[in-house]
Amino acid sequence: MRATVMFGAGDVRIEAIADARIIEPTDALVVVSRACICGSDLWPYKVMEHSDTGRPMGHEAIGIVESVGADVRTIKVGDLVVMPFAYSDGTCVFCSEGLHTSCIHGGFFGTGEVGGAQAEALRVPLADGTLFVLPVGKDDVLMPSLLTLSDVMGTGHHAAIAAKVGPGKTVAIVGDGAVGLCGVIAARRLGAEQIIILGRHPDRTALAKDFGATDVVSERGDEGIQRVRELTDGLGVHSVLECVGLEQSMLTAISIARPGGAVGRVGVPQNETMTGSEAAFYNNITVSGGPAPVRAYIAELLPDILEGRIEPGRVFDRVVRLDEVPDGYRAMNDREAIKVMVEP
Ligand SMILES: [Zn+2]
Repeated sequence: MRATVMFGAGDVRIEAIADARIIEPTDALVVVSRACICGSDLWPYKVMEHSDTGRPMGHEAIGIVESVGADVRTIKVGDLVVMPFAYSDGTCVFCSEGLHTSCIHGGFFGTGEVGGAQAEALRVPLADGTLFVLPVGKDDVLMPSLLTLSDVMGTGHHAAIAAKVGPGKTVAIVGDGAVGLCGVIAARRLGAEQIIILGRHPDRTALAKDFGATDVVSERGDEGIQRVRELTDGLGVHSVLECVGLEQSMLTAISIARPGGAVGRVGVPQNETMTGSEAAFYNNITVSGGPAPVRAYIAELLPDILEGRIEPGRVFDRVVRLDEVPDGYRAMNDREAIKVMVEP
């Protein structure tokens, strides 16, 4: 079968690899009908050292179950399923607490142990716990929005939960990528009153406004911090969604939170140490977040998509075939595209 493999920075290829197949009796084999490229795929795209064997890419997909292992109970051949970016058993102590990304038996797709989703097919471990059956047909018009349940919509929601967004709160979102934009949707959905997006790409901030952002701050660094203060009577915001992962974005996030506020971070950190410690301490700011347990959020977010209350699928502004995936990486890295959908 054909699959996306990254061999080093800027070196993404479509390779013929061994067919995905059932290995464990709890596996399902899924034929991918839609996948996508993630902002987090761009970190290795920028810095990965050359590897002769390469790394399978992709962790977001919707597909049809082709076969299941002998111990799979709830997932059936022919089901249309969405996969979260992490696999999980759904039964361990952490899954029971809704933290599926810490599943004792779980792991992440596209890491080498299991394949990537930017491929024709994929082996899904722990199928009963991992996969979520969708109540629509595979060509449903809602498919782009449903695909965001794999990662970006659930991740934006997780940032909002970690940042303690609630009715009447003031919220700022650092980052205007797909996750940040989904963070705007999540903040509005949870009842935030003022939603400030920090971003400087007009097409993205326009979409953020469509999603419910009330203010746009395009300045960066100290100027951006000052601007957010001006918009909040000098106080700062209750909740900050940090959706980038760089030192500067984290420092901005902590600097714009009001005393007693919270920062929910979902941008994959690119530094070993966390900045802003002093400001966070003296202002009693909660810093929380991490890999989103998106599996826990699918059931909650799905009705809003099915009933048209939210449209996170609008973050996809380009569709490519599998052969065109390398150019999709380039387009996202050059910020030509917000998020690229793959139709193998
Ligand atoms: Zn578990």
